[in-house]
Amino acid sequence: MSPTRVLVLNSGSSSVKYQLLDMRDGSRLAVGLVERIGEESSQLKHTPLATGETRGFTAAVPDHDAALKAVAAELAKDGLGLDSPELAAIGHRVVHGGKHFTAPTVVDDTVLAEIERLIPVAPLHNPANLTGIRTARALRPDLPQVAVFDTAFHTTMPESAARYAIDVRTADEHRIRRYGFHGTSHAYVSRATAELLGRAPEEVNVIVLHLGNGASASAVRGGRCVDTSMGLTPLEGLVMGTRSGDMDPAVIFHLMRVGGMSADEIDTLLNKKSGLIGLCGDNDMREIRRRIDEGDEAAQLAFDIYVHRLKKYIGAYYAVLGRVDAVAFTAGVGENAAPVRAAAVAGLEALGLTVDGELNAVRGDAPRLISPADARVAVAVVPTDEELEIATQTYALVKAAQGRP
Ligand code: ADP
Repeated sequence: MSPTRVLVLNSGSSSVKYQLLDMRDGSRLAVGLVERIGEESSQLKHTPLATGETRGFTAAVPDHDAALKAVAAELAKDGLGLDSPELAAIGHRVVHGGKHFTAPTVVDDTVLAEIERLIPVAPLHNPANLTGIRTARALRPDLPQVAVFDTAFHTTMPESAARYAIDVRTADEHRIRRYGFHGTSHAYVSRATAELLGRAPEEVNVIVLHLGNGASASAVRGGRCVDTSMGLTPLEGLVMGTRSGDMDPAVIFHLMRVGGMSADEIDTLLNKKSGLIGLCGDNDMREIRRRIDEGDEAAQLAFDIYVHRLKKYIGAYYAVLGRVDAVAFTAGVGENAAPVRAAAVAGLEALGLTVDGELNAVRGDAPRLISPADARVAVAVVPTDEELEIATQTYALVKAAQGRP
């Protein structure tokens, strides 16, 4: 029998998250993560789904190589080792694929060099992703390693959406354009939304709102992305947990000239100390809702700014698409925070958008409609599954390369 398992690796600068999936039915065999790599008290947590019992350790894991070897050792204890003939491929999340990578790609030396060439536009993410790929390759050089890019789904954006209105030569010299991120999630959720509506992805126009700690919106026409809210980096667009999202770029010169701040300080301010946490000191929507219930004004204002921005993007993408069949909420906030969903579409009845209070209050893991049955535009909660999407794309590519159906 041909191998059907795919290991999905998401390598961050100090962490590795992993899932082993069986692609016959997309089920999980094991999930886990290694955190605080490079520190004295690194932590590994591993859960084989056969027992559901999490185990692990706290000890120094010096680098990604050691982390992956530790993961391999845990998997081996469950009979799921990386040397198993049932492992078909390893799928890697890669944050930045630039303009070049429009689809998942089997990794070779040329592909690695190209991902490396993109480090200046993704200094935080691509080096860690590369380390993960190199380490996995060294461990199983015979196995296909597939890079699945966060940017790929957005490469269908027209130039009118992808370009900034700045000097063209400067933009081209520094590869400055809007790339977008969370593409794996936007691809998965837009397709799952079409499925929920019982229609082919080619037939439907969807606004996807991925609201996690990072947050982004996308306008998807017939299964293809035509606009998205993140840009050169994940800083642009919606108000996020710790990122400002859209802002007059002159704020930056002002902080440099008048505030005496350096580029690095402003980078940290806008990426790590802004958004919800900058506005009210909390970036967790649960905590913000709790504070609002106690009458906390700063939390209320942070919520209002968050929702105002979200509503602006719904309106903008409605205009970009012309006809909208569905608005889909996903990720931590989108899937769980009913008040955010209700507030984001409040007052948009003229656009055919309404949320049914009772349906919106229902909790669950399955994709579901929260708009009334007769609504002109469906409003949906569609849980994202980036690991399944990475595994699906990886498996499809490997099977196609081997000429198997
Ligand atoms: P990321 O993958 O970007 O780290 P997630 O998609 O896991 O983020 O989302 C994390 C965020 O989801 C948390 O910061 C929190 O604001 C929000 N969240 C999670 N659960 C709930 C909940 N039950 N109610 C409201 N917000 C929630």
